[in-house]
Amino acid sequence: MELPFCEICLKTGMLCPGCTAKIKDGELNDNDLEIAKELYRLSQENKGLKDVKFKRSIKVGNLIIILIEAGEIGSIIGKGGNVIRGLSKKLNKKIRVIEESKDVKKVASDLLYPAKVYGINIVYMPDGTIIKRLRLGKEFERKLPIATKSVKEILLLITGENVDIVFE
Ligand SMILES: [Zn+2]
Repeated sequence: MELPFCEICLKTGMLCPGCTAKIKDGELNDNDLEIAKELYRLSQENKGLKDVKFKRSIKVGNLIIILIEAGEIGSIIGKGGNVIRGLSKKLNKKIRVIEESKDVKKVASDLLYPAKVYGINIVYMPDGTIIKRLRLGKEFERKLPIATKSVKEILLLITGENVDIVFE
């Protein structure tokens, strides 16, 4: 498992100057450290995690988004979701794992699973701004796994895009 802090720091909980600086500079935060420690522990007993690269986390309300490098989402979600369940229990938060990407449709699909993401429309507003409109299945309007306000916030943080959401 590739983690943003050194192994010795995660093992001992005593941070070296390099890891301390990452938090002090705001590149990473205390949540990232807590998650990295737990993922480090889990990776010791779960060899399936060896190729997963944890980048950073985003906290929105009681939800924690774990951003990993693209390609290994299956390994971290694991057989029957054991790893995520363990992590969620330990941190006492809801967890979603997202592969780092600027592709709004892909990030939204990971974020909102099992809700169906139909597509994205580019909308030209009268004032000249351009927004991306995310089209979701009507049947999920009342049972979206994450509130639409949080979805917009998370998509902006991950992809840098302002997204509008419609159900159809
Ligand atoms: Zn360190």
